[in-house]
Amino acid sequence: MAKKTSFHVVWLRNDLRSYDNAALYNAAAAAHAEPESAVIALFIATPETWQQHHMAPLKQDFIRRRVAQMQKELNDQNIALLALEAGNYEDCMNIFRQLTDAGMIALYGQTEYELREQHRDKIISQQLQDAGVTVNWYDRLCIMPPGSILTQNGDTYKVFTPFKRNWLARLHEQEVRCFPKAKSTMLFNVHDLAGHLSFPAMIDGDDSSVKWPVAEQQVLEIMREFCQQHVADYNNDRDFPAVKGTSGLSAYLACGVLSAHQCVNRLQMEARPALEQEKSGASVWLSELIWREFYKHILVAYPALIKHKPFQADTAAIRWRNNKKLFEAWCEGKTGYPIVDAAMRQLNQTGWMHNRLRMITASFLVKDLQIDWRWGEQYFMSKLIDGEFAANNGGWQWAASTGTDAAPYFRIFNPVTQSERFDPQGKFIRQFMPELAQSDNKEIHWPHKKSTPSNYWPAIVDHNEARKITLALFTEVKKSDE
Ligand SMILES: Cc1cc2nc3c(=O)[nH]c(=O)nc-3n(C[C@H](O)[C@H](O)[C@H](O)COP(=O)(O)OP(=O)(O)OC[C@H]3O[C@@H](n4cnc5c(N)ncnc54)[C@H](O)[C@@H]3O)c2cc1C
Repeated sequence: MAKKTSFHVVWLRNDLRSYDNAALYNAAAAAHAEPESAVIALFIATPETWQQHHMAPLKQDFIRRRVAQMQKELNDQNIALLALEAGNYEDCMNIFRQLTDAGMIALYGQTEYELREQHRDKIISQQLQDAGVTVNWYDRLCIMPPGSILTQNGDTYKVFTPFKRNWLARLHEQEVRCFPKAKSTMLFNVHDLAGHLSFPAMIDGDDSSVKWPVAEQQVLEIMREFCQQHVADYNNDRDFPAVKGTSGLSAYLACGVLSAHQCVNRLQMEARPALEQEKSGASVWLSELIWREFYKHILVAYPALIKHKPFQADTAAIRWRNNKKLFEAWCEGKTGYPIVDAAMRQLNQTGWMHNRLRMITASFLVKDLQIDWRWGEQYFMSKLIDGEFAANNGGWQWAASTGTDAAPYFRIFNPVTQSERFDPQGKFIRQFMPELAQSDNKEIHWPHKKSTPSNYWPAIVDHNEARKITLALFTEVKKSDE
């Protein structure tokens, strides 16, 4: 009887890349050291669980396209990628049982921080170890892993600025290291597993996300070009949605097509002197990558967040008005506030929204319409190509004044003055609202002054009135605290 080939399995989840992939690199190194052993990458599509997480169809398509592309890329590295279709996380254990029977000797993967995922990985680790399979997890989602940046008393930072200071001090102490591309000497024929596996091959994407390239080299080139040519202007341009002033890398960072290590490594290569100046474009961009890590640290330290609890416990008692009609108008971009409506169209049409607009639309939903921030959080998740729990939850709680933000709840964005400030000529509004294209640069921010144009809708709320109601809702819960 032919000797069974043993194999190491790399379970790809939020690290859909071949460069700087600790799990792939270590698995290939281990396989190389053992004669007659191979490395296989594995991806398991879990549409049922994705749906429970409200993952946008566009993001699902993006992941499927990236995995299909990665199959080709890894093939050139002599690594077969087995992409399977399962329903949910419960099926994953069955897949691993079948793989163990077929000759799997070790599992490698990158840590995930969400509660359900942690629970899933714990059970799988235990069962595999009981079956004699070695399990290796790599905590590489952040440059500074959660729990590694703490106050002097050993607590989690609850405010960003001191967290950032500590994070930067740690960066100065160490080099940001990226793993080289993994290469295997022996390509495993995944068809040999056919008799062992009862799960079908992953279904292809529907190509709804084709505007987002998925080839790894292309993504690395976008990142390099941003660091070489645009990052210097980031501090000036990043708040203006009509300008291409941000990197546009969020979808890649969210799915791990790109790692934060790669971004910072490149930033140091291209702009090291600028990183010494606090207000330079490079430093401000680095700050955004630190925000990304801050929210992940917060999520791990406060698991109640994943159960939809507000960070500031007293705000759980706010009596949101939750008017469904107003919510629908917001979702559809029919609020009568042009900057809000244009932003929601950007989200609905492209699956992405500029950061300044995420702040404006989130603030509008919560503080002008008095709708529970969790409604908006879920809606964003169901549309965003870069939808990612920690950043989305952090952003929503920031906007709702229920989160870690140091700014007081009574600072409420005025959507019209935000529009005048960050889209002064109405260029962004015009791009998404052709019905307002003829408005002049002043009236485009508030077209209701004389009378609402016939092809636009009236404002659904009065901002000044809404502000008063919101302040009262907050005062009620803050007072009852005392
Ligand atoms: C209400 C709200 C919801 C949000 N939801 C998400 C989300 O689901 N997924 C997501 O990746 N970002 C989210 N953000 C943060 C931010 O809006 C996006 O990361 C950014 O717009 C992506 O564009 P970019 O890649 O060009 O960013 P750049 O400005 O080039 O920033 C570089 C990277 O830093 C990270 N980043 C930037 N700003 C933030 C931030 N405020 N918080 C955390 N990470 C940040 C992202 O990974 C981003 O790709 C949200 C912000 C708000 C206010």
